Amino acid sequence: TRPGVPARFVSARVAPLGSRLVLALVEDRTRERRVEEVRRDFVANVSHELKTPVGAIRLLADAMEDAADDPDAVKRFAARMLTESDRLGKLVQQIIQLSRLQADDPLDEPIAVDLDEVIATAVDTSAMAAEDRRIHVLVGGVPGVQVYGNEKQVLAAVSNLVSNAVSYSEPDSTVVVTTRVDEGSVDISVVDQGIGIPAEELDRIFERFYRVDPARHRSTGGTGLGLSIVKHVAATHGGEVRVWSAEGQGSTFTLTLPQHYGTDSTPDDDLSL
Ligand code: ADP
Repeated sequence: TRPGVPARFVSARVAPLGSRLVLALVEDRTRERRVEEVRRDFVANVSHELKTPVGAIRLLADAMEDAADDPDAVKRFAARMLTESDRLGKLVQQIIQLSRLQADDPLDEPIAVDLDEVIATAVDTSAMAAEDRRIHVLVGGVPGVQVYGNEKQVLAAVSNLVSNAVSYSEPDSTVVVTTRVDEGSVDISVVDQGIGIPAEELDRIFERFYRVDPARHRSTGGTGLGLSIVKHVAATHGGEVRVWSAEGQGSTFTLTLPQHYGTDSTPDDDLSL
């Protein structure tokens, strides 16, 4: 293969060299255009998504001013302002997270990432939200496993999965985070007993800003960016993310990443036990 020519054109059947090059150039231009379109769509979506909570906060502040002598109304408006500003904060944080992820190559300086620590931190981040609705988050699986990659990115991915599991769970239910090692790769599964996802939506939930029935889910304060972050991290680490879900029963998201054979997890260590 020659550098710069996409493999599928290199293997094109009978095209002479000249036309292959032209095809490759056309393909490059098309790809560039697509990248530019995706970027423009993203900026348009970001502006739209940011305008919604900003507009709502403005309206609520106006309403609060008008209701100055009705303390109950002021309290109600203040509570809604708080929800909207939390949403705005989460949105800004996830937009920054996504653009940082896209800017740096995760495997520039890959290191052994300790999954026990990552999972503990991810669970901690969602602890308050879980407690509020009496959701038990249990951690199981193989201890001492390490994956190969960028710690911040792996943490971002696992945190988003745990936070979703908690957000879309019913009160008094359980979320389980488990790890499984299989021939050089590690599965991190996050299982919930929540509202589930309709089968026809499963293909779309990994798209940026896509949310299943935003009206029904407004109370969760989601942004529609979490799963696109997970998908991005999986792809750049040479892994994948899969989902199983049934409406009303729950969902299981499994993130697969390459295993790092650290001192804690080599087969030799296992044998010496
Ligand atoms: P959000 O910030 O809205 O949660 P995500 O990109 O993380 O955005 O998820 C996209 C959509 O997929 C969510 O809005 C929700 O409808 C659905 N979803 C994600 N995780 C779950 C889950 N564990 N249970 C049910 N629905 C989920």
